[in-house]
Amino acid sequence: MAPKTIYNTTVVCPACEREFTATKVRLNAYRVLSQDSDFAAIYEGVNPILYQVFVCEHCGYAAFQDRFDQLNPKERKIINTQVGAYWKHKSYSGERTLDSALEAYKLALYCLQLRKAKSSEIAKTCLRIAWIYRWKGDQREKDFLKFALELYTEAYQSEDLPFDKMDAPHCIYLIAELNRKTGNLEEATKWFGRLFSSPEARQDKFLWDLAHEQYQLVKDSKEGNASPRDES
Ligand SMILES: [Zn+2]
Repeated sequence: MAPKTIYNTTVVCPACEREFTATKVRLNAYRVLSQDSDFAAIYEGVNPILYQVFVCEHCGYAAFQDRFDQLNPKERKIINTQVGAYWKHKSYSGERTLDSALEAYKLALYCLQLRKAKSSEIAKTCLRIAWIYRWKGDQREKDFLKFALELYTEAYQSEDLPFDKMDAPHCIYLIAELNRKTGNLEEATKWFGRLFSSPEARQDKFLWDLAHEQYQLVKDSKEGNASPRDES
């Protein structure tokens, strides 16, 4: 018999106040095998990222499970009138596929946009959507990496750090790396430079070494792409 890796729990929706079944992942159901350069983990066992967004089956309100309850009266009204009023009953409990997780994340993104949430929260959601597209082998990954980049850059300039669990060095690194991944080599150079001049970043050996590896790729790309005119 397969071990029970996921389990159901009853949650009260803060938007419509009805109960629904949400699915969570047991902590011992997965192990991190490795990590991509933008922090997307590769898991053995169940992928917990697929289950991080709860969706109310009655009204369509969706959000990260650790912030699911955080809906103020004004936001509640927005969700009720602009999501709940049009929602057709659908449950996202039980085992999730990449496609059903993607739907859940897109609903969460839509709710955050309607609520005019902080750029850092929308950025986090877009980055996870990019990862799911990557796991599907879908080119739309790039579009969502660009959205995440734009929003993290905006958040870095206008919000107080840390965002959720992301401190300043991790945010600067991510902006640098997303610029590199989306082909903005000059911007990537600028942000890696900012990271390398941060004493706080130097304290984190893993991040420091990773940043140097990725910065080397920027330098290699720039040399590879240099035209004769650039070299004169
Ligand atoms: Zn609801």
